[in-house]
Amino acid sequence: MVAKEKTSSTNLQDFISRLDVEAVGIASLADWKETRLEETALKLLPQARSVVVFAMEISREILDLASPGKVMGVAALSDLLKEDADFLYGRLTKASYDIAKASRKLRLRALPLPATGCPLDTRFLEAVFSYKQAAEAAGLGRIGRHSLLITPAFGSRVRLSCCLTEAVLEPTQGSMAEECGSCRICIDNCPAGALAGPQAGETYAINKFACSCFRTASGACAECLRLCPAGRSA
Ligand code: SF4
Ligand code: SF4
Repeated sequence: MVAKEKTSSTNLQDFISRLDVEAVGIASLADWKETRLEETALKLLPQARSVVVFAMEISREILDLASPGKVMGVAALSDLLKEDADFLYGRLTKASYDIAKASRKLRLRALPLPATGCPLDTRFLEAVFSYKQAAEAAGLGRIGRHSLLITPAFGSRVRLSCCLTEAVLEPTQGSMAEECGSCRICIDNCPAGALAGPQAGETYAINKFACSCFRTASGACAECLRLCPAGRSA
């Protein structure tokens, strides 16, 4: 790395460490050559060299109140989860924009990606860039049988945002989250029957359309998130 590039990266790395989020991971695209992560990142920002992933914890007390389905006239405690999400989305998106701004000040291109998610290809219900895969590559955790990220500190209770940047940053290597092992809680309790045991070589098997339809029809569902025991003891 040339001296000027190294100084810019050090400045940016310091800036990232001071942002008001609960966890940060960095993946270097050079380590993910010819993977879907690199392909989708370069489609969004052809100059991208690093992906910065921000994570914040979903409140356990609020998540414990969430339940699928609404009864007319009865207070829906799941609404608290939406408020919690709005709060976390705001903080996470701000972090993504802050790092993009700091990159640009160093004359490096950057693309902030909001916590509400990347644009979705509705034919496959697939985001153009997967925050979960980026988080896994950045060592923030691993993807579980419910298809969500599991982190060592907060289990499945995290929301994410990302920023692609031209800066060459030192990649992070977090401690790995616990494995699903023989657990099937999310699969056996999904009210839409959208989760199944993964085939050999797969991490998870989800019918995204069944999940999405159920969530729309019931008003909300986060049962797989709520019931996942990973990280409960943390
Ligand atoms: S959000 Fe609800 S419907 Fe979707 S996979 Fe999780 S438990 Fe099933
Ligand atoms: S509920 Fe169990 S099987 Fe599902 S993601 Fe969590 S640990 Fe894995």
